[in-house]
Amino acid sequence: MASSATVIHPPTRLLLGPGPSPIHPRIYAALGQPIVGHLDPYLFEIFSDIRRLLQSCWGTQNEFTFVIPGTGTAGMETAVVNFVAPGARFAVFVNGIFGERLCEIGRRRGARLLRVAKPWGQVFSDEEAAGFIQRERPDVVAFVNAETSTGAWQDGRAIARAASEIGALTIADCVTSLGGMPINLDAMGVDIAYSGTQKALGAPPGLAPITCSPRAVEWLRAHESAVPYYFDLKLLADYYGPARRYHHTPPVPMFYALREALAIIEEEGLENRFARHKANHEACVAGLEKLGLSLLVDKPHRLWTVATPRVPAGIDDALARRSMSEHHGIEIAGGLGSLAGQIFRLGNMGYGSSAENVKLVLGALAEALREQGYTA
Ligand SMILES: *Cc1c(COP(=O)(O)O)cnc(C)c1O
Repeated sequence: MASSATVIHPPTRLLLGPGPSPIHPRIYAALGQPIVGHLDPYLFEIFSDIRRLLQSCWGTQNEFTFVIPGTGTAGMETAVVNFVAPGARFAVFVNGIFGERLCEIGRRRGARLLRVAKPWGQVFSDEEAAGFIQRERPDVVAFVNAETSTGAWQDGRAIARAASEIGALTIADCVTSLGGMPINLDAMGVDIAYSGTQKALGAPPGLAPITCSPRAVEWLRAHESAVPYYFDLKLLADYYGPARRYHHTPPVPMFYALREALAIIEEEGLENRFARHKANHEACVAGLEKLGLSLLVDKPHRLWTVATPRVPAGIDDALARRSMSEHHGIEIAGGLGSLAGQIFRLGNMGYGSSAENVKLVLGALAEALREQGYTA
């Protein structure tokens, strides 16, 4: 019993849902290393390694690249509150739950919200994206590069191009793409991007990488706007940047863990890592189709990191997931919001992305479906 034990023994689950993803043993080891103080030069070496490795995962030269304590949502909130002033015209492309969350943060910030929506699982075409931006002339535009709630990949090039043509800044949510799929942020023309550590980066939850283009940094320096203290990018940059001015005490073991996760990525090589995610994604999709399941997202727009097969008619998805958990210790997820009961969500991220795990999850899912009388 957890309440009376002196040493905890958490269950070992095979996390094959849309995050958190499995942790490499080297990362668990990194979490147990001695902590140092918040101004120790060693910690700043860790920050500097993390900056360089994140720049390469993101495909950016942005000097203003660091990591803030807090989960992916803290990254989202930081991006919005620093660049969307109260009353600013804030356009959000919504095709899933994380686009809705961006809207909600914008609303609470007092932005003039310009919401454009697609049915969940679909993406915006270049023409739709550019047309909306030219018509509405927002100050800031946000979109979700990898919509984890649906499994859809949104190309950001047309969005960022149209935004920059009218002098607007572009924010991209890269929580489920960073470390698992090519992003090429600079080529895309995105100004601000954030992520989380527990998805394709393969580290524990708790940190939010963020990056800002020189144009975004210039905007930040030129605008005085009251920002919640903890998420104030200028104060954060004073600590994580060269000034090393105390702002908060960072969760040091988490930074060790992220440093180790990024070192593992560098050792594998980004191209190899992306190829591994792609191959395992394709094997998973082939297996799902063999089982007779159709996918929510059209082929060209699918994330490699999250597959979203439809739940077959007559199947109770919660019951199927419980069976997979009880019989195989495998965790996958169901749909959120309007997709609840409609889809399964299978993760293929970081250390968890392997041919063996694809086989395990497909086998467990097939068995769970058969238990409910399903025949392909
Ligand atoms: C998981 C996720 C978030 C939120 O991250 P948390 O770590 O749960 O706060 C935001 N956006 C996307 C696309 C995500 O997948």
